[in-house]
Amino acid sequence: MGQQRMLKFVDVERDMPEKRSAEDRRDDHHEIYRQFADEKAKEQAARCSQCGVPYCQSHCPLHNNIPDWLRMTAEGRLREAYDLSQATNTFPEICGRICPQDRLCEGNCVIEQSGHGTVTIGAVEKYITDTAWEEGWVQPVTPAQERAESVGIIGAGPGGLAAADMLRRQGIQVTVYDRYDRAGGLLTYGIPGFKLEKDVVMRRNDQLEKSGVSFELNCEIGRDVSFAELRDRHDAVLIATGVYKSRDLGGPGAGLPGIVRAIDYLTASNRVTFGDSVPEYDSGELNASGKKVVVIGGGDTAMDCVRTAVRQGATSVQCLYRRDRANMPGSVRETANAEEEGVEFVWLSAPKGFTGDDSVIGVKVAKMRLGAPDASGRRAPEEVPGADWTAEADLVIKALGFEPEPLPSLWDAPGLEVTRWGTVKADFQTKRTALDGVYAAGDIVRGASLVVWAIRDGREAAQSIIDDLDRRASVPVAAE
Ligand SMILES: Cc1cc2nc3c(=O)[nH]c(=O)nc-3n(C[C@H](O)[C@H](O)[C@H](O)COP(=O)(O)OP(=O)(O)OC[C@H]3O[C@@H](n4cnc5c(N)ncnc54)[C@H](O)[C@@H]3O)c2cc1C
Ligand code: SF4
Repeated sequence: MGQQRMLKFVDVERDMPEKRSAEDRRDDHHEIYRQFADEKAKEQAARCSQCGVPYCQSHCPLHNNIPDWLRMTAEGRLREAYDLSQATNTFPEICGRICPQDRLCEGNCVIEQSGHGTVTIGAVEKYITDTAWEEGWVQPVTPAQERAESVGIIGAGPGGLAAADMLRRQGIQVTVYDRYDRAGGLLTYGIPGFKLEKDVVMRRNDQLEKSGVSFELNCEIGRDVSFAELRDRHDAVLIATGVYKSRDLGGPGAGLPGIVRAIDYLTASNRVTFGDSVPEYDSGELNASGKKVVVIGGGDTAMDCVRTAVRQGATSVQCLYRRDRANMPGSVRETANAEEEGVEFVWLSAPKGFTGDDSVIGVKVAKMRLGAPDASGRRAPEEVPGADWTAEADLVIKALGFEPEPLPSLWDAPGLEVTRWGTVKADFQTKRTALDGVYAAGDIVRGASLVVWAIRDGREAAQSIIDDLDRRASVPVAAE
């Protein structure tokens, strides 16, 4: 069907080429693409069996009403599908692009489980909201009434921004503080542009600004403004700072030039996408072009590094992981994508040290095997004696995961309780911390997690702040 439409269009082009300007042709190509995407989305949406046991919905952290918006899409009722989809998700087009659907909604689709291939829920969600943007249905928030209370949000990642959106809908004054120069958190500087286009993130930031959210960027809490000062400024404070302390590697040669952290490597690459001047990229320090690259780690960050290195023109890209494929934490889909792009995965391999004089030239690798299960129930990797080898490398990227920064000491806030892993202790439902009027959401509470969970936490934190402000309100509450 889609193909028939495309052929029909090409006939039109062939019949009257002289009458068509370059601009017209661009518009027409865009239209073809739209039609094709439209039909694909409808075709996929129509595959939903309306099974009556929507496991997809219960396995979506936002409990999106997937069967209903799929039905509306199949029936061509896109505006209604969008209204329903955005009612539970602040950034549906972002989740549609980067949720690990194989572990969430799509992995639990009844059609998938009956062996017929999942409905591509994420792609339909993306399509509905991209269409909404194109059609002008996504509009800035206009609260019914402004309220006097203000909330300070530390961190402009998806958790903080989802909360900002909800709070503005109630007319609450919101200031978001971030130490980066652009809002978006890891959406902007962590996740590569080939997975999540940067203009998709920036248009959301612009929209929030138009909705009345104030951004104070290049502002680090604990350095430029103290945490105590921030609490004085606002009626409530939400901590949504994410986790940024990279896990490190020791061993001989660990300090050699050419061994870099994944977050620095990915941030540099994303800055280049924005057209920023990045001296460390230009100098080659954070650029894989023409290099033998070894990435250490088996999670999604490692997958983003290997795939970025391929795109930058690395001569070879190896990924070392100490367990096997079945025990890899990264998404199966991402790993398959990386393999298709030419990345070599070397399972059961752990780094022991690095070789080189002025800069790294190799990684000493211990061959591993899986032993008995450890306390977590996973089989622990153990070294195979006498089986060491060396991987050639002139750029080594450490992608071993992230931990929270020590906020109580950095912010001189000993009353801010943290867990033994350093994550901020917050009530599961209300997101309240041990400090009065201070809430926390996203990775800083969960540890490194997912965008969709940060959105859910941010929305729940905002609701809890609204409830608490209402309870002690001395100003009129917005009429609905
Ligand atoms: C490389 C990479 C790829 C990923 N890919 C995916 C993916 O494909 N799909 C997915 O669902 N998840 C992915 N994730 C995880 C996801 O990005 C995070 O779970 C999510 O961004 C967490 O949101 P957050 O709002 O809690 O924190 P963040 O997005 O980390 O935002 C926190 C913000 O707080 C700011 N901040 C921190 N401290 C301060 C301070 N003291 N003062 C001011 N500002 C501060 C930071 O600058 C940052 O902007 C990925 C993560 C990484 C690292
Ligand atoms: S938010 Fe994520 S898990 Fe939920 S329906 Fe969308 S893609 Fe699936």
